[in-house]
Amino acid sequence: MTAQAATSPAPSTQQPAAASAAGVTPPGATPMMVQYLEIKQAHPGCLLFYRMGDFYELFFEDAEQASAALDIALTKRGQHLGQDIPMCGVPVHSADGYLSRLIRKGFKVAICEQMEDPAEARKRGSKSVVRRDVVRVVTPGTITEDELLDARAHNYLAALAEAGGELGLAWLDISTGDFLAQPVGPQGLAATLARLSPGELILADRLLEKPAHDEAFGALKDRLTPLPAARFDSANGTRRLEEVFEVKALDAFGPFGRAELAAAGALLDYVTLTQKGRLPRLLPPRRLAAGAVMEIDAATRRNLELTEALTGGRAGSLLATIDRTVTGAGARLLATRLSAPLTDPSAIARRHDLIDHFIDHDGLRPNLRGDLRARLRRCPDIERALSRLSLGRGGPRDLAAVRDALKVAGELRGLLQQTAEPPAMLAEAVRDLGLHDTLIERLARALAPEPPLQARDGGAIAPGYDANLDELRGLRDDSRKLIAGLQQNYARESGVASLKIKHNNVLGYFIEVTPTHADKISTGGDSPFIHRQTLASAKRFSTVELSELEQKIASAAERALALEMQLVQDLVGEVLQRGAEIATAAGALAALDVAAGLAELAVAQRWCRPKIDGSTAFHITAGRHPVVEAALAAAQESGFVANDCRLEDGSDESGGRIWLVTGPNMAGKSTFLRQNALIAVLAQMGSYVPAEAAHIGVVDRLFSRVGAADDLARGRSTFMVEMVETAAILNQAGPRALVILDEIGRGTATFDGLSIAWACLEHLHEVNRCRTLFATHYHELTSLAAKLDSLVCHTMRVKEWQGDVVFLHEVTAGAADRSYGIHVAKLAGLPKVAIARAEAVLTSLEQGEQAGALTRLADDLPLFAATLARTVAPEKKASAVETVLEDVNPDALSPREALDLLYRLKDLSKD
Ligand code: ATP
Repeated sequence: MTAQAATSPAPSTQQPAAASAAGVTPPGATPMMVQYLEIKQAHPGCLLFYRMGDFYELFFEDAEQASAALDIALTKRGQHLGQDIPMCGVPVHSADGYLSRLIRKGFKVAICEQMEDPAEARKRGSKSVVRRDVVRVVTPGTITEDELLDARAHNYLAALAEAGGELGLAWLDISTGDFLAQPVGPQGLAATLARLSPGELILADRLLEKPAHDEAFGALKDRLTPLPAARFDSANGTRRLEEVFEVKALDAFGPFGRAELAAAGALLDYVTLTQKGRLPRLLPPRRLAAGAVMEIDAATRRNLELTEALTGGRAGSLLATIDRTVTGAGARLLATRLSAPLTDPSAIARRHDLIDHFIDHDGLRPNLRGDLRARLRRCPDIERALSRLSLGRGGPRDLAAVRDALKVAGELRGLLQQTAEPPAMLAEAVRDLGLHDTLIERLARALAPEPPLQARDGGAIAPGYDANLDELRGLRDDSRKLIAGLQQNYARESGVASLKIKHNNVLGYFIEVTPTHADKISTGGDSPFIHRQTLASAKRFSTVELSELEQKIASAAERALALEMQLVQDLVGEVLQRGAEIATAAGALAALDVAAGLAELAVAQRWCRPKIDGSTAFHITAGRHPVVEAALAAAQESGFVANDCRLEDGSDESGGRIWLVTGPNMAGKSTFLRQNALIAVLAQMGSYVPAEAAHIGVVDRLFSRVGAADDLARGRSTFMVEMVETAAILNQAGPRALVILDEIGRGTATFDGLSIAWACLEHLHEVNRCRTLFATHYHELTSLAAKLDSLVCHTMRVKEWQGDVVFLHEVTAGAADRSYGIHVAKLAGLPKVAIARAEAVLTSLEQGEQAGALTRLADDLPLFAATLARTVAPEKKASAVETVLEDVNPDALSPREALDLLYRLKDLSKD
């Protein structure tokens, strides 16, 4: 059901719940059931959390699904149409935990609250039902609660629309207000969706029917929300955007295409729908121009483990290795930047400049980075607090978060302003941090030191902030003292020392004595005591005086709370009025956290600032793989061996646009390939890189085909996956691309594989003409170096020592002659007999190869080479003719013997 729930029709709130009753309510249903069914019908595709007192109850099929998904008891409650009604429930105070589990499993949940006090309903008659309505529909892309969100990851709600034959994508993070759009071609769709990895994607149902998009949607199966195509209308979208952002034309925000407008408009509608008419605070939409970010398809992201390790989860990914941020917003920004490296050298340089500023060169800025990070550590998640406040879901603690974060912003402004010639991004950050003294002062004065989560819990406002509130609170608290006084009086007057004044929800305040002393309290006549209740363990009374005091207390407490809630609301209003400035400050805090974190990393790991320009250079001096290096360090193994990489046009010993890397198993080929791809990503996301020096001409697309992985979920075999990904590379890589190919063609028969690898290399060299690193165990491919100008062979150095192989992990010019696969098999613990047999087979295979034949093939057609190679099949059993010939020495034969031998061979050949 999970997938169904995720793709079921979106919640619809077009008609108020009550209006849709006709036709759903069977005769004989209880009034409460009538209400339930009406609301349920108005929210198809959602589980209905129906508030009953302290519980959210679920009924019928909802109860069955939720109880199974949450592993909670399924019970029954009454009957409907003669059948038991299945029911399960979750307590309101711990509902968030259950909600998050349901959302993670792909359900959508409509939250239906009691809209009035049950006492109000009773006034309308004993049979009246408490008024209820859905206040919000929770879907994976529209959550804002800290408990439901990962503090260090964005949760995007995205929309895909088609207009005039073009596709447009828009996305927003409801919890931070980020709102963006971009055009997207059919070929780039999968890569763009992989970059965003949205929590939920809404799209016109007909787009799902197009097989061309299967690839793109496959990975998002559980996160799709199809909607009727009519909701994606560009004219409506434009109108909605103009309305929401209060502009006459959208041009100021960017030249949006029709499809982007349709997508952005549909997003706004969907958010309004799920939030029951409330829109969160959103930043004006920004347009990401085509080509502004390095395109990295889903397979490459997976292979390179950019934000997630192959084993699943963040640990072991590049992101986990480089993340030194100290705030949730910083971590989210870092992940976004890593997912979308830039292509504009000057924008990249600006990010590098800021990192440079936080590196203390020659003691110029001692402790600047440390001071900055220490302050940021105290900074709450202001972005998410602000979004909850704007959706009416925030509380006093969110106000306190705003107060504390703005205080940090003020301190940082002071700290950073001192720079004489600040780099552009620093000046921008200082400006964006803004001046919020009045608001900070107001919040500091207004809020109690430890405010409650919700204003209705009371105690949010500090004493001394509002005179009226202080007075009401005084009244409330004094009255409590008066009660204590009254108790003393009654105890003295009645002579019952153990007399107590207590309170419960049914009786309110009452006087209680134990049965032993009950006789001492007389009622009737002049006695002020009025009998209320007799229990086995106590007798209870009241007095007129006590009732009057109770009234006073209740009204003072009620009035104090009402006033307090109003004051909190005023503060929320004030914060939201400055919402845009606060969001800008939040953005600056995140950017500073990212830069300081990357500087911290650069210093600790000795990373260098890369040079990025418009050339096609790829010169890495002493590059390292950050994740493998960190893993080796953690395991306290010997250090990582740094390697150079120099890809450029023309071939000499150290250059060449394509490097063909051969070498033994386990020698470090894959590590070398990946580290160069990661260095390109890091450099262009605006980070320093793990190398001594790096000069990279902007990479516009990164492709990586590493290893072999089945994609059984999508019904593809290992080899099919490999070929689909390889096809994407050969079809799409242009001259600015960087391509990493590791052991292409390994998943099929040797000669097929060799032929494919051969053809791919030629295609990359002749057609794609892009920078490429190609690792292979097909040593035959090295002969191509003689034919292809820009192909240079490199190999991983090993040392053979006393029959053993030592991996040096060093890349040098040249080609390997063998793979030492059997050596690795020995290391892996294959049985000795199997190793011995493998060595024997290898020897006979190697002897079967006609020396030099394959080298000559380099000048021939590539596929012909493979066919020829097939003719030297090694393990052929000797024929009878061959066996006889084996023993013949032609020089020793007489003419007669030679003639006899010829007849004999002719006979043998007939057998
Ligand atoms: P195969 O051909 O079997 O796939 P490979 O040549 O691709 O092997 P890698 O998987 O890259 O080899 O590396 C094997 C191991 O060697 C790594 O897990 C790492 O521990 C170590 N290693 C690789 N490169 C280096 C290096 N430069 N310095 C130190 N250790 C390294």
